[in-house]
Amino acid sequence: MEFDWSAEEIEYREDLRAFLVETLPENWAEISKDGPGSDAQAAYSLEFCAKLAEKGWLTQNWPAEYGGRDASAWRHAILGEEMWQCGEPRGAQYMNVNWIGPTIMEYGTEEQKTLHLPPIARGEVQWSQGFSEPEAGSDLVSLRTLAIRDGDDYVVNGSKIWTSYVNHAQYCFLLVRTDPESKRHKGISILLCPIDLPGIEIREIPSVVGDRYFHEVFFSDVRVPVSSRLGPEHEGWNVVAHALQYERVGAARYARAALTLDELARRAAELGMIEDEAVLERFGEARAACEAARMLAYRVIDLRNQGSPPTADTNVARVANTLAEQAVAELALETFGPDALEYGSFADSHFRLAMTAGVAVGATEINLNLVANRFLGLPRE
Ligand SMILES: Cc1cc2nc3c(=O)[nH]c(=O)nc-3n(C[C@H](O)[C@H](O)[C@H](O)COP(=O)(O)OP(=O)(O)OC[C@H]3O[C@@H](n4cnc5c(N)ncnc54)[C@H](O)[C@@H]3O)c2cc1C
Repeated sequence: MEFDWSAEEIEYREDLRAFLVETLPENWAEISKDGPGSDAQAAYSLEFCAKLAEKGWLTQNWPAEYGGRDASAWRHAILGEEMWQCGEPRGAQYMNVNWIGPTIMEYGTEEQKTLHLPPIARGEVQWSQGFSEPEAGSDLVSLRTLAIRDGDDYVVNGSKIWTSYVNHAQYCFLLVRTDPESKRHKGISILLCPIDLPGIEIREIPSVVGDRYFHEVFFSDVRVPVSSRLGPEHEGWNVVAHALQYERVGAARYARAALTLDELARRAAELGMIEDEAVLERFGEARAACEAARMLAYRVIDLRNQGSPPTADTNVARVANTLAEQAVAELALETFGPDALEYGSFADSHFRLAMTAGVAVGATEINLNLVANRFLGLPRE
Protein backbone atom coordinates (compact mmCIF):
# COMPACT_ATOMS: atom_id res chain seq x y z
CA MET A 1 0.00 0.00 0.00
CA GLU A 2 1.39 3.40 -0.99
CA PHE A 3 0.25 6.40 1.06
CA ASP A 4 2.69 8.99 -0.27
CA TRP A 5 1.91 11.78 -2.69
CA SER A 6 3.61 11.48 -6.07
CA ALA A 7 6.36 13.96 -7.06
CA GLU A 8 3.90 15.55 -9.49
CA GLU A 9 1.28 15.99 -6.74
CA ILE A 10 3.84 17.52 -4.37
CA GLU A 11 4.91 19.96 -7.06
CA TYR A 12 1.28 20.83 -7.77
CA ARG A 13 0.65 21.61 -4.10
CA GLU A 14 3.72 23.86 -4.04
CA ASP A 15 2.57 25.67 -7.19
CA LEU A 16 -0.86 26.11 -5.67
CA ARG A 17 0.56 27.60 -2.47
CA ALA A 18 2.72 30.00 -4.48
CA PHE A 19 -0.35 30.97 -6.51
CA LEU A 20 -2.32 31.67 -3.32
CA VAL A 21 0.46 33.86 -1.90
CA GLU A 22 0.61 35.77 -5.16
CA THR A 23 -3.13 36.02 -5.72
CA LEU A 24 -4.91 36.49 -2.39
CA PRO A 25 -5.14 40.20 -1.56
CA GLU A 26 -3.44 41.60 1.53
CA ASN A 27 -6.82 42.15 3.15
CA TRP A 28 -7.98 38.55 2.51
CA ALA A 29 -8.37 37.91 6.26
CA GLU A 30 -10.75 40.88 6.43
CA ILE A 31 -12.64 39.81 3.27
CA SER A 32 -13.09 36.22 4.50
CA LYS A 33 -13.91 37.07 8.13
CA ASP A 34 -17.69 37.06 7.63
CA GLY A 35 -17.86 33.85 5.58
CA PRO A 36 -18.71 32.91 1.98
CA GLY A 37 -22.20 34.47 2.14
CA SER A 38 -20.86 37.96 2.81
CA ASP A 39 -20.97 40.46 -0.04
CA ALA A 40 -17.19 40.89 0.10
CA GLN A 41 -16.32 37.20 -0.14
CA ALA A 42 -18.99 36.44 -2.75
CA ALA A 43 -17.68 39.23 -4.99
CA TYR A 44 -14.09 38.14 -4.48
CA SER A 45 -14.91 34.50 -5.30
CA LEU A 46 -15.85 35.49 -8.86
CA GLU A 47 -12.51 37.21 -9.34
CA PHE A 48 -10.58 34.38 -7.71
CA CYS A 49 -12.35 31.49 -9.47
CA ALA A 50 -11.78 33.11 -12.86
CA LYS A 51 -8.03 33.12 -12.08
CA LEU A 52 -8.14 29.52 -10.86
CA ALA A 53 -9.97 28.58 -14.07
CA GLU A 54 -7.33 30.35 -16.17
CA LYS A 55 -4.69 28.19 -14.50
CA GLY A 56 -6.79 25.15 -15.44
CA TRP A 57 -7.31 24.18 -11.80
CA LEU A 58 -10.91 25.07 -10.96
CA THR A 59 -12.50 21.99 -12.57
CA GLN A 60 -9.34 20.07 -13.42
CA ASN A 61 -10.84 16.69 -12.46
CA TRP A 62 -13.72 17.11 -14.92
CA PRO A 63 -13.49 15.59 -18.41
CA ALA A 64 -11.92 17.93 -20.98
CA GLU A 65 -15.16 18.01 -23.01
CA TYR A 66 -16.88 19.80 -20.09
CA GLY A 67 -14.12 22.29 -19.36
CA GLY A 68 -11.87 20.06 -17.26
CA ARG A 69 -8.37 18.63 -17.66
CA ASP A 70 -9.10 14.94 -17.00
CA ALA A 71 -7.00 15.24 -13.83
CA SER A 72 -7.25 12.77 -10.96
CA ALA A 73 -9.61 13.09 -8.00
CA TRP A 74 -6.43 13.41 -5.91
CA ARG A 75 -5.41 16.69 -7.51
CA HIS A 76 -8.89 18.04 -6.89
CA ALA A 77 -8.58 16.89 -3.26
CA ILE A 78 -5.28 18.76 -2.90
CA LEU A 79 -7.01 21.86 -4.25
CA GLY A 80 -9.83 21.41 -1.70
CA GLU A 81 -7.37 21.08 1.19
CA GLU A 82 -5.45 24.19 0.23
CA MET A 83 -8.64 26.18 -0.31
CA TRP A 84 -10.21 25.21 3.04
CA GLN A 85 -6.98 25.90 4.88
CA CYS A 86 -6.98 29.50 3.76
CA GLY A 87 -10.69 30.24 4.28
CA GLU A 88 -12.15 28.97 0.96
CA PRO A 89 -11.60 31.78 -1.57
CA ARG A 90 -13.80 29.88 -4.05
CA GLY A 91 -16.70 30.91 -1.78
CA ALA A 92 -19.97 29.19 -2.64
CA GLN A 93 -18.46 27.95 -5.90
CA TYR A 94 -16.90 25.02 -4.05
CA MET A 95 -20.39 23.47 -4.30
CA ASN A 96 -20.51 24.00 -8.08
CA VAL A 97 -17.28 22.19 -8.75
CA ASN A 98 -17.65 19.45 -6.13
CA TRP A 99 -21.14 18.20 -6.73
CA ILE A 100 -23.54 20.41 -8.73
CA GLY A 101 -21.43 20.27 -11.92
CA PRO A 102 -20.70 16.52 -11.60
CA THR A 103 -24.40 15.78 -11.01
CA ILE A 104 -25.42 17.78 -14.08
CA MET A 105 -22.69 15.91 -16.00
CA GLU A 106 -24.15 12.58 -14.91
CA TYR A 107 -27.88 13.25 -15.31
CA GLY A 108 -28.20 16.32 -17.55
CA THR A 109 -29.38 16.55 -21.16
CA GLU A 110 -26.85 17.80 -23.73
CA GLU A 111 -28.65 21.15 -23.69
CA GLN A 112 -28.34 21.41 -19.89
CA LYS A 113 -24.66 20.46 -19.96
CA THR A 114 -23.95 23.06 -22.64
CA LEU A 115 -25.86 25.73 -20.73
CA HIS A 116 -24.49 25.10 -17.24
CA LEU A 117 -21.09 23.39 -17.29
CA PRO A 118 -18.96 25.92 -19.21
CA PRO A 119 -19.89 28.88 -16.93
CA ILE A 120 -19.13 26.74 -13.85
CA ALA A 121 -15.78 25.71 -15.36
CA ARG A 122 -14.96 29.38 -16.03
CA GLY A 123 -15.84 30.33 -12.43
CA GLU A 124 -18.54 32.76 -13.53
CA VAL A 125 -21.65 31.47 -11.80
CA GLN A 126 -22.88 30.82 -8.27
CA TRP A 127 -25.34 28.08 -7.40
CA SER A 128 -27.36 27.35 -4.31
CA GLN A 129 -29.00 24.21 -2.99
CA GLY A 130 -32.75 24.20 -2.27
CA PHE A 131 -33.37 20.99 -0.34
CA SER A 132 -34.43 21.68 3.27
CA GLU A 133 -37.90 22.89 4.18
CA PRO A 134 -39.35 23.90 7.55
CA GLU A 135 -40.82 20.39 7.98
CA ALA A 136 -38.22 18.50 5.92
CA GLY A 137 -34.65 18.58 7.18
CA SER A 138 -33.26 15.23 8.32
CA ASP A 139 -36.44 13.72 6.96
CA LEU A 140 -35.92 15.30 3.57
CA VAL A 141 -38.46 13.05 1.85
CA SER A 142 -41.22 14.92 3.71
CA LEU A 143 -40.67 17.86 1.37
CA ARG A 144 -43.84 19.63 0.25
CA THR A 145 -42.79 22.26 -2.28
CA LEU A 146 -44.98 21.42 -5.26
CA ALA A 147 -44.17 21.74 -8.96
CA ILE A 148 -47.27 21.03 -11.01
CA ARG A 149 -46.98 20.66 -14.73
CA ASP A 150 -48.80 23.21 -16.87
CA GLY A 151 -47.91 22.99 -20.58
CA ASP A 152 -44.18 23.53 -21.03
CA ASP A 153 -43.72 24.79 -17.46
CA TYR A 154 -43.89 23.59 -13.88
CA VAL A 155 -45.73 25.94 -11.54
CA VAL A 156 -43.83 25.93 -8.26
CA ASN A 157 -45.34 26.79 -4.86
CA GLY A 158 -43.77 26.30 -1.45
CA SER A 159 -40.71 27.34 0.50
CA LYS A 160 -37.16 26.33 1.31
CA ILE A 161 -35.10 27.12 4.39
CA TRP A 162 -31.42 27.33 5.40
CA THR A 163 -30.53 27.98 1.75
CA SER A 164 -26.88 28.99 1.93
CA TYR A 165 -25.51 31.75 -0.34
CA VAL A 166 -28.71 32.06 -2.40
CA ASN A 167 -28.51 35.86 -2.06
CA HIS A 168 -25.62 35.85 -4.56
CA ALA A 169 -26.67 32.85 -6.66
CA GLN A 170 -27.96 32.81 -10.21
CA TYR A 171 -29.38 29.28 -9.91
CA CYS A 172 -30.87 26.93 -7.36
CA PHE A 173 -30.56 23.14 -7.48
CA LEU A 174 -34.15 22.76 -6.40
CA LEU A 175 -35.86 19.69 -4.99
CA VAL A 176 -39.64 19.60 -5.60
CA ARG A 177 -42.56 17.22 -5.48
CA THR A 178 -43.91 16.85 -9.03
CA ASP A 179 -46.56 14.27 -8.15
CA PRO A 180 -48.87 15.77 -5.50
CA GLU A 181 -50.32 12.33 -4.69
CA SER A 182 -46.92 10.80 -4.03
CA LYS A 183 -45.31 10.07 -0.67
CA ARG A 184 -41.75 9.90 0.64
CA HIS A 185 -39.07 9.05 -1.99
CA LYS A 186 -41.51 8.80 -4.89
CA GLY A 187 -42.76 11.69 -7.02
CA ILE A 188 -39.76 13.97 -6.41
CA SER A 189 -37.92 15.84 -9.20
CA ILE A 190 -35.03 18.29 -9.48
CA LEU A 191 -35.24 21.64 -11.21
CA LEU A 192 -32.22 23.69 -12.27
CA CYS A 193 -34.07 26.85 -11.38
CA PRO A 194 -32.92 30.38 -12.27
CA ILE A 195 -33.21 32.41 -9.09
CA ASP A 196 -34.44 35.61 -10.76
CA LEU A 197 -37.79 34.22 -11.93
CA PRO A 198 -40.94 36.18 -11.02
CA GLY A 199 -42.54 34.85 -7.82
CA ILE A 200 -39.30 34.00 -5.96
CA GLU A 201 -38.70 35.90 -2.75
CA ILE A 202 -35.56 35.56 -0.62
CA ARG A 203 -35.42 36.47 3.07
CA GLU A 204 -32.24 36.38 5.09
CA ILE A 205 -32.03 34.46 8.40
CA PRO A 206 -29.47 35.75 10.93
CA SER A 207 -26.83 33.10 11.51
CA VAL A 208 -23.88 32.17 13.65
CA VAL A 209 -21.88 30.73 10.73
CA GLY A 210 -21.37 33.97 8.87
CA ASP A 211 -22.85 37.10 7.45
CA ARG A 212 -25.75 36.70 4.96
CA TYR A 213 -25.33 32.92 5.05
CA PHE A 214 -28.81 31.42 5.53
CA HIS A 215 -32.05 32.28 3.78
CA GLU A 216 -35.64 31.30 3.35
CA VAL A 217 -36.79 31.14 -0.26
CA PHE A 218 -40.49 31.46 -1.06
CA PHE A 219 -42.00 30.28 -4.37
CA SER A 220 -45.38 31.68 -5.39
CA ASP A 221 -46.68 30.43 -8.76
CA VAL A 222 -43.16 30.43 -10.17
CA ARG A 223 -43.07 29.14 -13.74
CA VAL A 224 -40.00 26.99 -14.38
CA PRO A 225 -39.61 25.49 -17.87
CA VAL A 226 -39.92 21.69 -18.02
CA SER A 227 -36.61 21.73 -19.93
CA SER A 228 -34.96 22.74 -16.62
CA ARG A 229 -35.77 19.39 -14.99
CA LEU A 230 -32.67 17.31 -14.24
CA GLY A 231 -33.22 13.59 -14.76
CA PRO A 232 -36.52 11.72 -15.15
CA GLU A 233 -39.75 13.19 -13.80
CA HIS A 234 -40.77 11.90 -10.33
CA GLU A 235 -37.47 10.00 -9.96
CA GLY A 236 -35.25 12.72 -8.59
CA TRP A 237 -34.49 10.97 -5.32
CA ASN A 238 -31.71 8.83 -6.82
CA VAL A 239 -30.14 11.95 -8.29
CA VAL A 240 -30.20 13.66 -4.90
CA ALA A 241 -28.71 10.66 -3.12
CA HIS A 242 -25.89 10.71 -5.67
CA ALA A 243 -25.33 14.45 -5.23
CA LEU A 244 -25.27 14.22 -1.44
CA GLN A 245 -22.56 11.56 -1.52
CA TYR A 246 -20.34 14.03 -3.38
CA GLU A 247 -21.22 16.90 -1.10
CA ARG A 248 -20.52 15.08 2.16
CA VAL A 249 -16.79 14.92 1.52
CA GLY A 250 -16.64 18.04 -0.63
CA ALA A 251 -15.13 20.21 2.09
CA ALA A 252 -11.69 19.34 3.47
CA ARG A 253 -12.69 20.13 7.05
CA TYR A 254 -9.92 17.91 8.47
CA ALA A 255 -7.28 20.09 6.78
CA ARG A 256 -8.60 23.29 8.27
CA ALA A 257 -9.06 21.63 11.69
CA ALA A 258 -5.43 20.40 11.64
CA LEU A 259 -4.18 23.86 10.74
CA THR A 260 -6.21 25.48 13.53
CA LEU A 261 -4.77 22.89 15.88
CA ASP A 262 -1.20 23.80 14.84
CA GLU A 263 -1.97 27.44 15.56
CA LEU A 264 -3.44 26.56 18.96
CA ALA A 265 -0.38 24.39 19.78
CA ARG A 266 1.91 27.30 18.89
CA ARG A 267 0.02 29.59 21.24
CA ALA A 268 -0.09 26.99 24.00
CA ALA A 269 3.67 26.54 23.73
CA GLU A 270 4.20 30.32 23.92
CA LEU A 271 2.11 30.46 27.09
CA GLY A 272 3.96 27.50 28.65
CA MET A 273 0.73 25.47 28.77
CA ILE A 274 2.18 22.56 26.88
CA GLU A 275 4.03 21.39 30.03
CA ASP A 276 0.66 20.27 31.41
CA GLU A 277 0.13 16.52 30.74
CA ALA A 278 -3.64 16.91 30.56
CA VAL A 279 -3.32 19.65 27.92
CA LEU A 280 -0.85 17.57 25.93
CA GLU A 281 -3.25 14.65 25.98
CA ARG A 282 -6.07 16.82 24.62
CA PHE A 283 -3.85 18.02 21.78
CA GLY A 284 -2.91 14.41 21.01
CA GLU A 285 -6.53 13.33 20.90
CA ALA A 286 -7.51 16.20 18.63
CA ARG A 287 -4.59 15.49 16.28
CA ALA A 288 -5.60 11.80 16.13
CA ALA A 289 -9.18 12.83 15.27
CA CYS A 290 -7.91 15.06 12.41
CA GLU A 291 -5.68 12.34 11.00
CA ALA A 292 -8.43 9.70 11.23
CA ALA A 293 -10.76 12.06 9.35
CA ARG A 294 -8.10 12.71 6.72
CA MET A 295 -7.55 8.98 6.12
CA LEU A 296 -11.27 8.27 5.92
CA ALA A 297 -11.74 11.11 3.44
CA TYR A 298 -8.81 9.77 1.41
CA ARG A 299 -10.51 6.38 1.26
CA VAL A 300 -13.51 8.01 -0.42
CA ILE A 301 -11.26 9.92 -2.82
CA ASP A 302 -9.44 6.70 -3.68
CA LEU A 303 -12.73 4.95 -4.45
CA ARG A 304 -13.82 7.91 -6.55
CA ASN A 305 -10.52 7.94 -8.38
CA GLN A 306 -11.07 4.30 -9.30
CA GLY A 307 -14.51 5.21 -10.64
CA SER A 308 -16.35 3.16 -7.98
CA PRO A 309 -19.95 4.10 -7.17
CA PRO A 310 -20.47 6.01 -3.87
CA THR A 311 -20.66 3.88 -0.70
CA ALA A 312 -21.36 4.52 2.98
CA ASP A 313 -17.62 5.26 3.32
CA THR A 314 -18.73 8.80 2.50
CA ASN A 315 -20.99 8.89 5.57
CA VAL A 316 -18.20 7.50 7.77
CA ALA A 317 -15.81 10.17 6.47
CA ARG A 318 -18.36 12.91 7.04
CA VAL A 319 -18.91 11.89 10.67
CA ALA A 320 -15.14 11.67 11.26
CA ASN A 321 -14.67 15.15 9.79
CA THR A 322 -17.33 16.57 12.05
CA LEU A 323 -15.81 14.91 15.12
CA ALA A 324 -12.34 16.25 14.24
CA GLU A 325 -13.64 19.78 13.82
CA GLN A 326 -15.53 19.56 17.09
CA ALA A 327 -12.52 18.10 18.97
CA VAL A 328 -10.39 21.09 17.90
CA ALA A 329 -13.15 23.59 18.74
CA GLU A 330 -13.69 22.12 22.21
CA LEU A 331 -9.97 22.05 22.85
CA ALA A 332 -9.69 25.73 21.89
CA LEU A 333 -12.45 26.70 24.26
CA GLU A 334 -11.32 24.53 27.17
CA THR A 335 -7.66 25.46 26.88
CA PHE A 336 -7.87 29.17 26.14
CA GLY A 337 -11.29 30.06 27.51
CA PRO A 338 -13.42 32.78 25.92
CA ASP A 339 -10.29 34.48 24.48
CA ALA A 340 -10.22 31.75 21.82
CA LEU A 341 -13.53 33.03 20.51
CA GLU A 342 -12.62 36.65 20.02
CA TYR A 343 -14.56 37.61 16.92
CA GLY A 344 -12.57 37.25 13.73
CA SER A 345 -9.84 35.09 15.24
CA PHE A 346 -8.86 31.87 13.49
CA ALA A 347 -10.26 29.73 16.30
CA ASP A 348 -13.48 31.74 16.35
CA SER A 349 -14.41 31.06 12.73
CA HIS A 350 -13.41 27.43 13.26
CA PHE A 351 -15.64 27.21 16.32
CA ARG A 352 -18.65 28.58 14.48
CA LEU A 353 -18.18 26.16 11.58
CA ALA A 354 -17.74 23.22 13.98
CA MET A 355 -20.96 24.07 15.82
CA THR A 356 -23.00 23.58 12.67
CA ALA A 357 -20.99 20.80 10.98
CA GLY A 358 -22.93 18.11 12.83
CA VAL A 359 -26.17 19.36 11.25
CA ALA A 360 -25.22 20.50 7.74
CA VAL A 361 -25.41 18.03 4.81
CA GLY A 362 -27.38 15.59 6.95
CA ALA A 363 -27.01 15.52 10.74
CA THR A 364 -24.43 13.21 12.31
CA GLU A 365 -27.22 10.93 13.58
CA ILE A 366 -28.57 10.58 10.03
CA ASN A 367 -25.12 9.74 8.68
CA LEU A 368 -24.71 7.17 11.45
CA ASN A 369 -28.11 5.67 10.62
CA LEU A 370 -26.97 5.26 6.99
CA VAL A 371 -23.72 3.60 8.12
CA ALA A 372 -25.67 1.21 10.38
CA ASN A 373 -28.00 0.34 7.52
CA ARG A 374 -25.51 0.04 4.66
CA PHE A 375 -22.44 -1.36 6.43
CA LEU A 376 -23.98 -3.34 9.28
CA GLY A 377 -27.17 -4.39 7.53
CA LEU A 378 -29.33 -3.03 10.36
CA PRO A 379 -32.90 -2.02 9.47
CA ARG A 380 -33.66 1.66 8.64
CA GLU A 381 -35.22 3.42 11.62
C1 LIG B 1 -24.04 25.32 7.82
C2 LIG B 1 -25.31 24.79 7.22
C3 LIG B 1 -25.55 24.99 5.87
C4 LIG B 1 -26.74 24.51 5.30
N1 LIG B 1 -26.98 24.79 3.98
C5 LIG B 1 -28.10 24.31 3.40
C6 LIG B 1 -28.37 24.60 2.02
O1 LIG B 1 -27.62 25.29 1.35
N2 LIG B 1 -29.51 24.09 1.48
C7 LIG B 1 -30.38 23.31 2.19
O2 LIG B 1 -31.35 22.84 1.62
N3 LIG B 1 -30.18 23.07 3.52
C8 LIG B 1 -29.07 23.55 4.13
N4 LIG B 1 -28.83 23.32 5.47
C9 LIG B 1 -29.85 22.64 6.25
C10 LIG B 1 -29.48 21.23 6.66
O3 LIG B 1 -29.47 20.36 5.57
C11 LIG B 1 -30.48 20.80 7.75
O4 LIG B 1 -30.27 21.64 8.87
C12 LIG B 1 -30.30 19.36 8.15
O5 LIG B 1 -30.71 18.51 7.12
C13 LIG B 1 -31.09 19.03 9.44
O6 LIG B 1 -32.42 19.39 9.30
P1 LIG B 1 -33.17 20.30 10.40
O7 LIG B 1 -32.36 21.54 10.60
O8 LIG B 1 -34.57 20.44 9.99
O9 LIG B 1 -33.04 19.50 11.76
P2 LIG B 1 -33.93 18.25 12.21
O10 LIG B 1 -34.10 17.33 11.07
O11 LIG B 1 -35.16 18.77 12.89
O12 LIG B 1 -32.98 17.57 13.27
C14 LIG B 1 -32.81 18.13 14.58
C15 LIG B 1 -32.02 17.15 15.40
O13 LIG B 1 -32.73 15.91 15.50
C16 LIG B 1 -31.89 14.82 15.12
N5 LIG B 1 -32.63 13.81 14.36
C17 LIG B 1 -33.52 14.04 13.38
N6 LIG B 1 -33.96 12.88 12.85
C18 LIG B 1 -33.29 11.89 13.51
C19 LIG B 1 -33.29 10.47 13.42
N7 LIG B 1 -34.05 9.84 12.50
N8 LIG B 1 -32.48 9.77 14.24
C20 LIG B 1 -31.70 10.40 15.19
N9 LIG B 1 -31.68 11.76 15.31
C21 LIG B 1 -32.44 12.49 14.48
C22 LIG B 1 -30.83 15.44 14.21
O14 LIG B 1 -29.66 14.71 14.23
C23 LIG B 1 -30.66 16.83 14.78
O15 LIG B 1 -29.67 16.82 15.78
C24 LIG B 1 -27.68 23.80 6.07
C25 LIG B 1 -27.44 23.60 7.45
C26 LIG B 1 -26.28 24.09 8.01
C27 LIG B 1 -26.04 23.88 9.48
